[in-house]
Amino acid sequence: MRIAIVGGGVAGTLTANYLAMRLREELRSKKLEILLISEREKMLYEPGLLYLIFNRVEEKDIVKELKLLLDPGVKLLIGKAEKLDLENQKVLMKNESIDYDYLVIATGSRIVPEEIPGLVETGHWFYDLEGAKRLRNELANFKKGKVVVSVMGIPHKCPVAPIEVTFLLHDFFKLHGIRKDVEIVYTYPVNRVFTMGNVSELVEQMFADRKISSRLFFNPVEVDAKKKEIVTLEGEREKFDLLVAIPPHKGAKIIIDSGINEDGWVPTEKFTLKVKGYDNVFALGDTTDLPISKAGSVAHFQAEVLAENISAEIKGLPPTARYFGKAMCFIETGFDEATYIWFDYETPPRFVKPNKFTHWMKIAYNRMFWLTARGIL
Ligand SMILES: Cc1cc2nc3c(=O)[nH]c(=O)nc-3n(C[C@H](O)[C@H](O)[C@H](O)COP(=O)(O)OP(=O)(O)OC[C@H]3O[C@@H](n4cnc5c(N)ncnc54)[C@H](O)[C@@H]3O)c2cc1C
Repeated sequence: MRIAIVGGGVAGTLTANYLAMRLREELRSKKLEILLISEREKMLYEPGLLYLIFNRVEEKDIVKELKLLLDPGVKLLIGKAEKLDLENQKVLMKNESIDYDYLVIATGSRIVPEEIPGLVETGHWFYDLEGAKRLRNELANFKKGKVVVSVMGIPHKCPVAPIEVTFLLHDFFKLHGIRKDVEIVYTYPVNRVFTMGNVSELVEQMFADRKISSRLFFNPVEVDAKKKEIVTLEGEREKFDLLVAIPPHKGAKIIIDSGINEDGWVPTEKFTLKVKGYDNVFALGDTTDLPISKAGSVAHFQAEVLAENISAEIKGLPPTARYFGKAMCFIETGFDEATYIWFDYETPPRFVKPNKFTHWMKIAYNRMFWLTARGIL
């Protein structure tokens, strides 16, 4: 019997490790193989990118070899899966076809900055490693002018990261004594600064206290490279000296190529995480179409549910675990304070007043993440 997991990010790695821990006997007797297929040899801890751009962590702190994170019971195959053939229960690689009994789709999401003309040439972002390294250099040399943080599409990974970077930019310029020379503008596609009402009120007040202005209902379609302006669907324009964009996102190409969904989001049943129409195929993490944040914490809670249910089925036990939309996100509101929100499908977000203790919890968690990835914490 084989469980194939496609995608070696947080979602795939945690699922593989949790399954190996639950199915130790089956692995030992060679009745079962847990196969993790990853196109990358390394895992990037994406939340660390927020600190890398301010030179507070280095690449070596946030990138680790995947093979060092895996339980010995998990077999790793490095390679790009070309197609998922759900009808015939096969994962097609370039030169081989892999049969599975259970499939877990954990192919994540990706940024597509090329879909906004002018953005690649003129803009910056911190949503991948290369972009974050470029932005780090740009910020180190930035002395005065207008910085625009612009969210260019929803959904995107980590809904709170654009807010966090805006607060941290404010603190960064303050620490360097140039805040008075820098204007900070935040743009967002809907009619408030964040999709969730009460969090939005908190952030709006904090933006006002820090003299950060915002433009709402702002839907960029182009970046005018010559004039250094963002152009919106409605024809509005916003000038910038430094553009920190949150580029539009799509699901993985393999989901589109396999005809599962044209935007790459996998139709997923919200409680069982089964791919709709299939009893032995599951999806978790950023790749799903679920009405919940695309966040590592979500992937973590979902991995626990999947591992419990798949291992129960294999052992002939009832698979009764359910995912109720549990999510938890820290929000850095500066270099020495943070809050966090927690919510689920039914419960709107609750949060604490921004404080130093929560910030240090987040910093500690950043270091402990590698234990989480191994399935230990
Ligand atoms: C700047 C930033 C800050 C963030 N901060 C936080 C935070 O504070 N808290 C939080 O909870 N979340 C945060 N997130 C979000 C979090 O990082 C993601 O939600 C999480 O990584 C999703 O995990 P995933 O495994 O679903 O997807 P990914 O991490 O994207 O992994 C998917 C993997 O699948 C692989 N893959 C795709 N297609 C194929 C294929 N065809 N064959 C083989 N492999 C394939 C990819 O290469 C990738 O390795 C942040 C994200 C960013 C960008």
